[in-house]
Amino acid sequence: MGAYSGVVTRPSNGARVAWTLAPGLATLGRQLDKLGITWYSIGNADHLKRSGGHTPWKPGAPFGTVTAIDVMASPYAVVEKAILRLMKQASYDTSWIDFINTNGSQYDYDGRRQASSGDHHLHLEVLGNRTSFTSNLFYDMFGWPAGTKPSPPPKPPVVVTPPPAPTEEVTMKVIAEKGKPERWKTDGFVREHIKTMDDVAALEAVFGKTVEVSDPEAFGPVVTPEGGKS
Ligand SMILES: [Zn+2]
Repeated sequence: MGAYSGVVTRPSNGARVAWTLAPGLATLGRQLDKLGITWYSIGNADHLKRSGGHTPWKPGAPFGTVTAIDVMASPYAVVEKAILRLMKQASYDTSWIDFINTNGSQYDYDGRRQASSGDHHLHLEVLGNRTSFTSNLFYDMFGWPAGTKPSPPPKPPVVVTPPPAPTEEVTMKVIAEKGKPERWKTDGFVREHIKTMDDVAALEAVFGKTVEVSDPEAFGPVVTPEGGKS
């Protein structure tokens, strides 16, 4: 695990300088920690004699902020390929990168090769004015470890258009079956029990519909209940 903050002595003047890792790089460092990949931030004595990204006094960066990390993942050619794939995607934001060194080459933020480099591990340096970027770079390069990948956005609910409600039928027809005057049909069902208008009234009560009788004369004596429908 790389260091996220600390205090170093500046060789040029002996000053003690408290430093923190650039916030965006700290996020990336936590990704590397989760992935179990070794990384470094603050430079060794040799780095500290100079003023590069591994020091907290790089010109153009906030004083006290370390702006580079070394990622000790290998094989180097595989790491180089993985980061270049992302850097060369126009839709993948690496605009916060100053430059990288990887597998013996230096590349600009967009993956264009700039020069050869003595670094074979991945050296990732952020722009001094972009230290608070957010990125999932290492999860995207090395694969998201279990439990870290955000769940995909929920699919929009399938909108089921309900079938149109059947037009409320307010009447039922009671029709005498041809040749069988004692058998009556309603809605296709034979209702042998319908013998009188009282039975029709009962049918209305059950279905809550007005029962239309095709031939009321075919029924027996019509009995209209008092206060009922007439
Ligand atoms: Zn480095």
